[in-house]
Amino acid sequence: MKFCSACAHPVTVEVPPDDTLPRHVCHACGIIHYQNPKLVICTIPTWEENGETKVLLCKRAISPRHGYWTLPGGFMENKETTTEAAQRETEEEAGAHFELLPLHSLINLPAFHQVHLFYRATLLDLEFNPGKESLEVRLFAKSEIPWDHIAFATVTQALQLYFDDVAKVKHGGTFGFHAHDIMGPGYPGG
Ligand SMILES: [Zn+2]
Repeated sequence: MKFCSACAHPVTVEVPPDDTLPRHVCHACGIIHYQNPKLVICTIPTWEENGETKVLLCKRAISPRHGYWTLPGGFMENKETTTEAAQRETEEEAGAHFELLPLHSLINLPAFHQVHLFYRATLLDLEFNPGKESLEVRLFAKSEIPWDHIAFATVTQALQLYFDDVAKVKHGGTFGFHAHDIMGPGYPGG
């Protein structure tokens, strides 16, 4: 940020009185422009086939990580809830019909100033309609997942946590809720 979004005066970076971190401060109108982490909301849409759990992934048609696979998701918008964001992003990117289930994982990405949330979801049918942000949408069994071509470290982690739980559920366990931190960049070169 170079200019104040309220009055267009150039801002300076300094630690305000009674604060501990540098902020963008406008000395013309007095506003301190705080910058805080953004929420990225994703779903893990699944389909059961011959006793095997398959997960829906989208091949990204946009940068960053064009051509890499990801779970449906994106930045939460103002004035929506996390579940509304999960539904909107999954409809936009995969055109999938699904029932949203409870939150499965929360992954902090402090180096990226982001927090990623992953909701479980059950697909209601196999009609997909890739949106403009996806090149392709398809289902993958665990053994088919292109682990070397997953777009983001948080998605890799969420998928691993999810399939660990699937194995537990098959032996009478339940899906848990998982909170993790990824301290490095969210993707190579990111
Ligand atoms: Zn200002």
